[in-house]
Amino acid sequence: ATACAAFALLFVAIGVWFSWRPESEANDEFIAAIRNGEFIPYYQPVMDIETGSMRGCEVLMRWRRPNGEIVPPGQFMEYAERNGHIFEMTRQLMVQTCDEVGQLYLDNPDMKLSINLFAGHFRNREVVTDITSIYENSNISFQQIVVEVTERYPLEDMELARKIMAEMQALGVRVALDDVGTGHGGMAYLQKLGVDIIKIDKMFIDAIGDDASSTTIVDSMVELADNLGMGIIAEGVEHEEQVERLRELGVTAAQGYFFARPLPVDQFIEFAERIGAE
Ligand code: C2E
Ligand code: CA
Ligand code: CA
Ligand code: CA
Repeated sequence: ATACAAFALLFVAIGVWFSWRPESEANDEFIAAIRNGEFIPYYQPVMDIETGSMRGCEVLMRWRRPNGEIVPPGQFMEYAERNGHIFEMTRQLMVQTCDEVGQLYLDNPDMKLSINLFAGHFRNREVVTDITSIYENSNISFQQIVVEVTERYPLEDMELARKIMAEMQALGVRVALDDVGTGHGGMAYLQKLGVDIIKIDKMFIDAIGDDASSTTIVDSMVELADNLGMGIIAEGVEHEEQVERLRELGVTAAQGYFFARPLPVDQFIEFAERIGAE
């Protein structure tokens, strides 16, 4: 009987080892990549479509593997968020922005720098401490920073999230609601969270022009933003005609492949010098 039990135990142990090992190895690899500084910022310009100058940029994370391959966030972000690695990765990203574009932001005090946060960042005040300690002695001022939070996934503790946002806003940081029109929040989010900027999702921008209801939705978002004193940014602009439509609708800020893709730092700085910031 003892031999039988030992055998069973061995079987279970082997089973556990096999199912657990690959995940843990993948995780060790991921942690090593974080330590090696493989997660880096790309910068996508945000344009002023009235003047043609640059208003700032959105920081978008990339995984630059040792072989030079550039991996987009769709392939690692969910894993990073689920395992809590995103907190350290976001800190590193913010530190890199100071090193890489600090001088550009010092020279252009009206330029904004948008950082993406995820829902988990709004469950813990530590993100406010991170932003404070990283940016307070840098060339990028709090007034130049925008944090983006997506409407795509729910914020569990709205009350705490609102407090954390208010603490950021007290520093001078602005809060943008990302992917507006796609998710959970809608009007309730805008009202409860007191965001400063809304970003209209690409889905609506794709359809303006050939779809009357999308045009109406964008139009009412613009009106809402105006009435609530919020800024508005159109995302995913790919064609000249969309820029025309947005101008007609009174949108003044836009980003998208039409202007520039997310760029590595040297190309971004080149773009800024060529186009000029506001
Ligand atoms: P997002 O915040 O909505 O970012 C916009 C995405 O649209 C980016 O994809 C950008 O490259 C892409 N995009 C911009 N203009 C155009 C366009 O004209 N056409 C098309 N087709 N796409 C355009 P990306 O860089 O792959 O990022 C995907 C998502 O990953 C982001 O969506 C964001 O939710 C997340 N993400 C990226 N960086 C970070 C980060 O540092 N932290 C967190 N928490 N999430 C991040
Ligand atoms: Ca974003
Ligand atoms: Ca977005
Ligand atoms: Ca989007």
